[in-house]
Amino acid sequence: MNILDEVKNCRTIGISGHIRPDGDCVGSCMAMALYLEKALPKARVDVFLGTFSEALQKNIAGAEKIHHEYMTDVEHYDAFLCLDCEKERLGDALDLFMKAGKKINIDHHRTNSGSGDVNYVVPTASSTCELVYTTLDERLMDVNIARNLYIGMVTDTGVFMYSNTGRQTMEIAGKLMEFGFDFSAVVREVFYEKTYVQQQILGRALLESIRFLDGRCIVSMVDRRTMHFYQATSSDMDGIASELVHTEGVCCSIFMYEIEPMTYKVSLRSTGEVDVSKLALLYGGGGHARAAGCTCNASYHDIINNLAPYIEEQLNAGVHV
Ligand code: 5GP
Ligand code: MN
Repeated sequence: MNILDEVKNCRTIGISGHIRPDGDCVGSCMAMALYLEKALPKARVDVFLGTFSEALQKNIAGAEKIHHEYMTDVEHYDAFLCLDCEKERLGDALDLFMKAGKKINIDHHRTNSGSGDVNYVVPTASSTCELVYTTLDERLMDVNIARNLYIGMVTDTGVFMYSNTGRQTMEIAGKLMEFGFDFSAVVREVFYEKTYVQQQILGRALLESIRFLDGRCIVSMVDRRTMHFYQATSSDMDGIASELVHTEGVCCSIFMYEIEPMTYKVSLRSTGEVDVSKLALLYGGGGHARAAGCTCNASYHDIINNLAPYIEEQLNAGVHV
């Protein structure tokens, strides 16, 4: 896909991504916005996203331009881009997307069947940022666009460690580095650095974790009272599920935090012996084979009891993803 072929005659373009946006979501949305503003100087480009971490606010170029209220004087956008998710996860931006003249969906989630009039969904891509890069004319790229894309790629590949990292990922990352931003500082600040609160919550989650299925699965939960005590928000929970799955002998981690009474945001991670996207689909969620998520309206124990047999079945079947 060449994005300019799709939107070259548009005067108003809206962009959004999934609720509780992460580095790939914010990075792809803002890289695309900066690119379109540059390529189509007469067009109006608006980005709508929920709130995100301070590290992303600081590192994503143009983050201050993002609208966190989903209000606009544009009646319907000539084109609206849904990035890094299917339309069901757009949250309050769904209405703007549905009303748009042309709906464009760019995503790398295998559970996305395509939400737009035009769909560019490639499950083998490491990240939406990797896909966005392939839609741009390199001659119009600059250091800010490059850094935003790099942040998304780093986020979704675990700094080029996860199995979604491919030759194309590394080649694109190499080209992005040549724009000359401080990639080392970006990785540290966006991926590794945690606030004190995040460290404390992570510590609690690790301390209170429980292993089951002969130590091949690990689960932990943070309830609302604890979140309130630490003044923690949902973006403070990022990374905990991945940390849990790094436990020796563990193939699958389940991390959940309470959004409302009896409603949990569930994050699932796998080292390859379990396809966690299938588990997330059971609850109407989705994601990738080794990293997926969903929102569950059930008690903590019911969620574990429901998921355990499916995990065990996959472990016994010798799945490899
Ligand atoms: P996380 O556990 O970090 O929230 O998400 C892991 C992966 O699963 C990410 O790629 C994320 O976009 C996806 N994901 C998380 N929650 C949901 C959900 O409720 N629905 C869908 N379709 N994907 C999700
Ligand atoms: Mn992504």
